[in-house]
Amino acid sequence: MNHQKSKELYDRSCRVLAGGVSSEFRKFSYPHPLFYAAGKGAYITDVDGNEYLDFTLSQGPLILGHSHPEVLARVNEESSRGQLFAGQHLAELELAEKLQSLIPCAELMRFSLSGSESDHCALRLARAVTGRAKFVRFEGHYHGWFDNVAVGIGAPNLEDLGERENPNPVRWTQGLPPNIEDESIVLPWNDAELLRRIVEARHGEIAAIITEPVMCNSGCIPPRESFLETVRELCDRFGIVFILDEVITGFRLGMGGAQQFYDVTPDLAIFGKAMASGYPISILCGKEKFMRLVSSGEVIHAGTMNSGHPSIAAALATLEVLARDNVHEKLFRLGKQLMDGLRDVARETDQPLLVQGPGPMFHVGFTSQNEVCDFRETFGYDKKKYASFLGQMQDKGIRLIGRGLWYISAAHNEAEIDRAIQTARAVLAGMPR
Ligand code: PMP
Repeated sequence: MNHQKSKELYDRSCRVLAGGVSSEFRKFSYPHPLFYAAGKGAYITDVDGNEYLDFTLSQGPLILGHSHPEVLARVNEESSRGQLFAGQHLAELELAEKLQSLIPCAELMRFSLSGSESDHCALRLARAVTGRAKFVRFEGHYHGWFDNVAVGIGAPNLEDLGERENPNPVRWTQGLPPNIEDESIVLPWNDAELLRRIVEARHGEIAAIITEPVMCNSGCIPPRESFLETVRELCDRFGIVFILDEVITGFRLGMGGAQQFYDVTPDLAIFGKAMASGYPISILCGKEKFMRLVSSGEVIHAGTMNSGHPSIAAALATLEVLARDNVHEKLFRLGKQLMDGLRDVARETDQPLLVQGPGPMFHVGFTSQNEVCDFRETFGYDKKKYASFLGQMQDKGIRLIGRGLWYISAAHNEAEIDRAIQTARAVLAGMPR
């Protein structure tokens, strides 16, 4: 596959964009960051004319596929009346009402542009509500790139994480404030007993427990039976705010997010990504008794670009299509077809491939483990081997995310899923065991 034009543009980019990209995660692309020209349905085409069946879906947002006509039409129509009023507009109200009716905890909400911002606001609000400073977060979870949560995301080596019962709060980036480690208590995920012990001992310091409902940023790890219920119970018992980060699970596991799927209602939740088919929008939503501090302005949330017309229109259209076309049934069905197919071809080719997740998104990695339950166990994945698999899949026209997460969209069909499975079979057959 030829990437000549992409390479030239990337070299040019490096002279003007830091690292040649606009988000750190885009740097790690094969064979280098590519330039794309167009996306339609389940396909994306690069500037060299290579077409890929896309399981990246812009890291999750494109739940209806690229360039969905109804989304584009609604965006055009809504934007033709205005783009941003620095004031209220009807479509924004209608979207909020819709979201309130769909999301169990969403008694009140605020719109922002990115998941990172809404996560940031959730932690600020939790501190204000409780008068406490720290929050519990879990190893390997991602809650955006801001300072508060830039500790405990990951570590280069397993040893860097320290003792399991008392993990090192590993910094993710340079440039953080000096004592940022003191703000979070980092714990391994999916260990209800350890969480209970720590919270019982330290609840007076803890404003919030923040978690992804399914750990999608390292592997794709479902919550153990009653883990989320334990978080709920501890938060109730000790007056701690339960924050559920639904940036990936939201509108992917169902119209009411993971909180509906797992039947656990948090105090606050963050939605983004799949909500608006690639237009910038997120929400912080939650129970009125907490959100009222945002209503009163005692906790400040703001943003010039918030609730811009294109994003609101895209969200309205996306939610409409998701419900009307019963998209979630399709995402689970195709996800199962793909996961089962990948497991079958791995067995046939004798490759230690672990495929794990609910279906609308799932993780694929090389390991002999039968299951991966927390971040530490993800160190058992052979990441180099997955990088080689990804490169070969891409050379055969299948685009994947480097960290092994696969996303399904409503634009995929059975034949395309089958093509992905057959391509994986060919690649796996040629790889060392
Ligand atoms: N939370 C989770 C669970 C995420 O996966 C992400 C993004 N991958 C974020 C928050 C941050 O969202 P954004 O990139 O829109 O700031």
